[in-house]
Amino acid sequence: MRLENKVVVVTGAGRGIGKGIAVRLAEEGANIVVADVNLEIATSAVDEIKELGRKALPVKTDVSKWDDAQNLIASTVREFGRIDVLVNNAGINRDAMLHKMASEQWDQVIAVNLTGTFNCMKAAATVMREQEYGRIVNISSAGWLGNIGQANYSASKAGVIGLTKTAARELAKKNITVNAICPGFIDTEMTRGVPDKVWEIMVSKIPMGKVGTPRDIGNMVAFLASDDASYVTAEVINVGGGMIL
Ligand code: NAP
Repeated sequence: MRLENKVVVVTGAGRGIGKGIAVRLAEEGANIVVADVNLEIATSAVDEIKELGRKALPVKTDVSKWDDAQNLIASTVREFGRIDVLVNNAGINRDAMLHKMASEQWDQVIAVNLTGTFNCMKAAATVMREQEYGRIVNISSAGWLGNIGQANYSASKAGVIGLTKTAARELAKKNITVNAICPGFIDTEMTRGVPDKVWEIMVSKIPMGKVGTPRDIGNMVAFLASDDASYVTAEVINVGGGMIL
């Protein structure tokens, strides 16, 4: 119960890694705001969290919209009085080779993955600065180092790392830590869309020889959000079974 009664916001928490993080933090005693663009799956994740005996609130949020991000943080403070932890997890991919990538594919991915992270951090930072307490965990990706067919995704995730390090410097004196996690290859709907052959190639590149689970990412977020990590900030942590060596 390292996060007993902490108030946590997780974006994109209706399914996949975000839901894994939300459930894992609830197991540590946190109350969770489940933000997702899809209210139906957000509500079903909330039901699961309530079964663990924690409080939970679904908030329909498109993180790429500033008004939605503001509403998310305002709703959290209205319901729970504060925000201790923000996990920026919502993300999409729209893959194509650079020379075939449509401007829309570029814009959509940057809007959700990078601008969405900025929007939620900006809204939460105001509250966390006043509280003089906060933990922000941004979900980047091993793909920030470059991936064929993912110019938009890779650029957005590299941007998240720059944003993480800048915010960590700005907020350090206010007792707010900001860190990023780079998941490797995790079993979610995002990765289940790849052809079997690509799946096999990806797994063959992982020294531990298996894909990760949303819970593996949740375990690292639980650590970074806890007092055990109170002197850890501006770090980029790989969780990928050794995929990035
Ligand atoms: P996922 O299964 O596709 O889940 C993403 C969730 O985010 C969905 O519930 C989705 O809602 C929601 N979402 C999409 N756009 C949103 C928006 N504009 N505002 C709010 N919520 C939105 O993906 P995942 O695999 O769990 O990935 C989660 C994060 O981890 C992403 O940032 C991804 O880039 C990162 N990541 C994943 C892997 C991996 O191997 N899976 C590896 C590295 C990094 P809908 O259901 O409506 O689409």
